[in-house]
Amino acid sequence: MEITEIQVDGYERVARCRDEESGLHGLVAVHDTTLGPALGGMRMLPYMSEDEALFDVLRLSKGMTYKSAVADLRLGGGKSVIIGDPAQAKSPELFRAMGKFIDDFGGKYITAEDMNIGIADLENVKESTKWVVGLSRESGSSGNPSPYTAKGCHHGLRAVMEELFGAPTFEGRSVLIQGVGAVGGTLAVLLKESGANVTICDIDGGKVDRMCSEHGFSSIEDAGHHTFECDVYAPCARGAGLNDDTIPALRCKAVAGCANNQLLKPEHAEALKSRGILYAPDYVINAGGIINVYMELIDGGYVEEAALERIATIYNNLKKVFEIARTKDVNTREAAARLAEMRIDSARAAK
Ligand code: NAD
Repeated sequence: MEITEIQVDGYERVARCRDEESGLHGLVAVHDTTLGPALGGMRMLPYMSEDEALFDVLRLSKGMTYKSAVADLRLGGGKSVIIGDPAQAKSPELFRAMGKFIDDFGGKYITAEDMNIGIADLENVKESTKWVVGLSRESGSSGNPSPYTAKGCHHGLRAVMEELFGAPTFEGRSVLIQGVGAVGGTLAVLLKESGANVTICDIDGGKVDRMCSEHGFSSIEDAGHHTFECDVYAPCARGAGLNDDTIPALRCKAVAGCANNQLLKPEHAEALKSRGILYAPDYVINAGGIINVYMELIDGGYVEEAALERIATIYNNLKKVFEIARTKDVNTREAAARLAEMRIDSARAAK
């Protein structure tokens, strides 16, 4: 196994691992550990080149620094990628080798599930390093993050309602959820229980029908859903839904949902602000999963009640973001970045 360093400005450590025996070609990027060890998932993709994989791991690890800082966790940002086709190149040896590579970071990088990586893969990683979180509840870990992401999103939506209407309540408010999967489906139920009028859409029509007959939601076609008039539009399916085509046609007062990378480009945050639409930055409102997994690292280990209490702080974090946006007259994406940087800078100054 050969581990080589890659020098990248602004990153604490970036390294590549090549292992002939297992076929591993992986990268780990640690962006910043001012607030704590760099936690971030491992993904496996058939990248066309190492440069493409490097671009991804650098972008994602920096994103994790900001996500954990805004969530007010004692965590930094990191990420790892395995270059390879997940349908063909997976083997226990590959993941054990990846575990050895991660172990070389001595706890500065902690891994978890991400795209194309499952619990079984992480079990193999764990044979070579203890720096793995997000395994099954049965193994003493925090388990499936999705219900916690949904709960966190619900707390975030309370802050959205307060910013829009002066009270953190849902009674009589209308919410459109696109994507009723693991997170969006749970969120829809939580919102209905809180008194919201919930409308759903999804490319999976069967799922929509089942959810409507079980819970009494209304539904609309997925095509053109963004033009639906509502108080809050909650994208909970895929990224890039907020773009030059959709933003001018929105008829909501706020966009706030769990989907990652909702803005096609950073400048779309400004486009939403210009239209007077409140945007809850995705990585702030969808932090329930990372907060849940973080609680494994707390002294005494994972306790669900403590995790739920911590997840509720997404309400406060979003309120801070909205306050910075209001008082500094910046868009909410910029406000979230400022909040993260303030927290990192003050931790750095205190060291
Ligand atoms: P999921 O796969 O369980 O659900 C996604 C749902 O969206 C499915 O019902 C699917 O049919 C639907 N969908 C997919 N493409 C669509 C499209 N083009 N139009 C309409 N509907 C579409 O996924 P999930 O775990 O619920 O995650 C949803 C989003 O939240 C993703 O963007 C994910 O990255 C993000 N997220 C999830 C978590 C988590 O804990 N699961 C944490 C943070 C962020």
